Amino acid sequence: MSNKGSLEVSIDSVLHENRKFHPNKEFAKNYILKDLNVYKKLYQSSIKNPKAFWEKMAIQNIVFFKKWRTVFKWKDYKAEWFTGGTLNVSFNCIDRHLITERKNKAALIWEGEPGETRTITYQQLYSEVSRCANMLKSLGLKAGDKAAIYMPLIPEAVIAMLACARIGVVHTVVFGGFSSNSLRDRIQDSNCKLLITADGGFRKGTSVKMKDMADEACKETPTIKNVVVVKRTGEKVNMKLGRDVWWHELIVNESNQCEAIPLPSEHPLFILYTSGTTGKPKGLLHTTAGYLLGTTVTTKYLFDIKDTDIYWCTADVGWITGHSYVVYGLLSNGATVFMYEGAPTYPEADRFWKMIAAHRITILYTAPTAIRSFIRLGNEGPLKHDLSSLRLLGTVGEPINPEAWIWYHEVIGKKKCPIIDTWWQTETGAIMISPFPGITSTKPGSATLPFFGVEPAILNKDGTPAKGTKGGYLCIKKPWPHMARTIYGDHERFKKTYWKEIDGVYFTGDGAHQDRDGYYWIMGRVDDVINVSGHRLGTMEIESAAVQHPSIAECAVVGRPDPIRGQGIVAFVTLKKSVAVNEGLKDDISKFITHEIGNLARPDEIRFTEALPKTRSGKIMRRLLRELATTGTIKGDTTTLEDFSVLEKLREKDEE
Ligand code: ATP
Ligand code: MG
Repeated sequence: MSNKGSLEVSIDSVLHENRKFHPNKEFAKNYILKDLNVYKKLYQSSIKNPKAFWEKMAIQNIVFFKKWRTVFKWKDYKAEWFTGGTLNVSFNCIDRHLITERKNKAALIWEGEPGETRTITYQQLYSEVSRCANMLKSLGLKAGDKAAIYMPLIPEAVIAMLACARIGVVHTVVFGGFSSNSLRDRIQDSNCKLLITADGGFRKGTSVKMKDMADEACKETPTIKNVVVVKRTGEKVNMKLGRDVWWHELIVNESNQCEAIPLPSEHPLFILYTSGTTGKPKGLLHTTAGYLLGTTVTTKYLFDIKDTDIYWCTADVGWITGHSYVVYGLLSNGATVFMYEGAPTYPEADRFWKMIAAHRITILYTAPTAIRSFIRLGNEGPLKHDLSSLRLLGTVGEPINPEAWIWYHEVIGKKKCPIIDTWWQTETGAIMISPFPGITSTKPGSATLPFFGVEPAILNKDGTPAKGTKGGYLCIKKPWPHMARTIYGDHERFKKTYWKEIDGVYFTGDGAHQDRDGYYWIMGRVDDVINVSGHRLGTMEIESAAVQHPSIAECAVVGRPDPIRGQGIVAFVTLKKSVAVNEGLKDDISKFITHEIGNLARPDEIRFTEALPKTRSGKIMRRLLRELATTGTIKGDTTTLEDFSVLEKLREKDEE
């Protein structure tokens, strides 16, 4: 951490956002909570007496086979929730719906990139997951073994996850867009016995050769005994004798019934690696009861799931958002989940909006990075399609710039859909700070208020509270049920990274401030804070000011050493597609930012670039830009980078 040991503590807030939007009345009528006072009461009770609160939530929302003895234990920074109890996540996501009218309801509606669709009801999901679980058993897997899932976004990915959960196999899903090296590293780190993959997947009109990648990875993964291959693209692949088996050949002989075995509350459910925005990914371990409870309850209150909803979260199951809000939280609530395999702009820029209209999607959960790229493309796409089915919108992954929020609100939500800006992390398992859509008034760019049981604090580096509305380090004061239990294989690193940075509280690594209404504003990552003349500025605020400029689609700012001011600001800017670069544009942008924020934020340098370096999950990797702006080269870890050609383009600009 760059500021460790220094006396500088808080972060200055410089952006003023005063717009406020009250909950839509129509939406509020059918919302699960009556008003903000009800929330406040429940919230207070969840903080005052977390054990009683979560115990009640567990009884109301989760089926246990055997009740717990102890609600919560905390030892050596390792949480235990509902100890003594047994349950099964797959049972909660499938079986419990089969005795209700949800039995024949669609659990998954899937669309492939080429355009074909599949619908899988809860009853059918039960059969498919049972078959797959029996297949895993016949390959010798048992509770506690680890399996890697490296697949395109097809129903089999979800089926495989639920099949693992059904028999206590710990899954580690590796995003299908990762290269063989990233897959190899994750398999090695988590000691997987089995790899489930596909011949390939469709992306931007071509097929991605996943089996070839898997083969490459498995050259150095001695723990892998078998590779199960789903046929998706139908292209020719190598099948290694004695190791590789076809999913469809094995599964036909398996029974469509498989008992969901009772597992202890703290049985590991999955290991998942973080996005790698700030460095090398960490393999976070999540367990059964607490994780299921957190994802189930947040889904219920924040996504307001009704039986008539068709919900679409655009994340891949390779990320925590996909785990919690494509699969577990949603199926546990008996929702209908829409999934789409391919690229957002294939074959045309309006693919997303076309699918929302065609499938009558009611709830859309996506990332600011996607929203910004749609803004860049212009409004024709969304305006061409009937988006009237939408009733609730959500965002996750990065701070959303107020301008992007407003666009989402007006162009997609037609000013009637509440927007929930949900702040959380791989480590937190489920959403931690978010508006409650029927009752919380929203402010563009603010994640607003904490979820039940979450006690945030904004602290200085020495652990004292940041004063008033000053920004500081966002921390969580007490453990919660859906938190990661450890970094797999490295509990010391877990303690050091999250619990010792500021002693005794959970350290998120994000900066934030709280306004007079008690709303939380995430200001960016603390590693990215820029120090200009003694003022510590979060990246989010400067970038948000910049993207208000009519020519700018996206902006990332970083600091670079400056002999006089400590640090100077370098802004990397991508322009909207329709904009032509002219002589005075940089000057104009610089003046614009200065006008919005003050002289303090005047960029030393503005660089136009075709694209910004992003992680595979779409987050801007400012550490690479910082390195480039400071040293002229990039040597840091780039394994999680989405598009390597971006680096070349940035370097070219550097040499101009
Ligand atoms: P790594 O920890 O490896 O650097 P990462 O932090 O990007 O990767 P994730 O767990 O996927 O990995 O992302 C969590 C982070 O995403 C948060 O710490 C925060 O910085 C950012 N984030 C997520 N949602 C929001 C939001 N609604 N507003 C602001 N920031 C958000
Ligand atoms: Mg992180």
